[in-house]
Amino acid sequence: MSETIGIVQLGPTLDCSVEELRDKVARKFPSYQVRRLEPMDTPPLALDSFRKQYHSTRILVALEENAQAVRTKRLLGVAAFDLFVPGMNFVFGEARCPGRVAVISTYRLRAEDPDESDLFEGRVCKEAVHEIGHMLGLKHCSNPLCVMHFSERLADTDRKEDSFCSECEPKMKWLEVE
Ligand SMILES: [Zn+2]
Ligand SMILES: [Zn+2]
Repeated sequence: MSETIGIVQLGPTLDCSVEELRDKVARKFPSYQVRRLEPMDTPPLALDSFRKQYHSTRILVALEENAQAVRTKRLLGVAAFDLFVPGMNFVFGEARCPGRVAVISTYRLRAEDPDESDLFEGRVCKEAVHEIGHMLGLKHCSNPLCVMHFSERLADTDRKEDSFCSECEPKMKWLEVE
């Protein structure tokens, strides 16, 4: 049986379709089994009430506990709320690299025009593929079109594609992490 990547909604609401994201991610990682899991509560300790943002590294810790509980070797959390790490105003996502868990936020990916839902869903897919790439050991790539290029702002996300460049693709591997 192939290795499993779980996708889990964090918190009660989400503005993107997890099922659609699952289908897209499954197409990008054909050698893995990609599963949608039951939504998970947002860990309250991750909230910084002064910044009104969630500390993404604390989310990763909660995801690690959940991954153990649901016996998923790799777990991607998807949140509608804003994420940060100390020293940065925000992050689109964070992952253990290589590791078992990653998180993305849709908060800053929304299109200005609500009719542009394809643009929004496309951005969510790119960020998901990027963080899963980190879980599978990939570092940031200097090629601005590669999905592993670091997104500092939305324009970076929009410029890059949702696939790995020819240098990143072969470097990706399933490392056992416990
Ligand atoms: Zn990254
Ligand atoms: Zn690359």
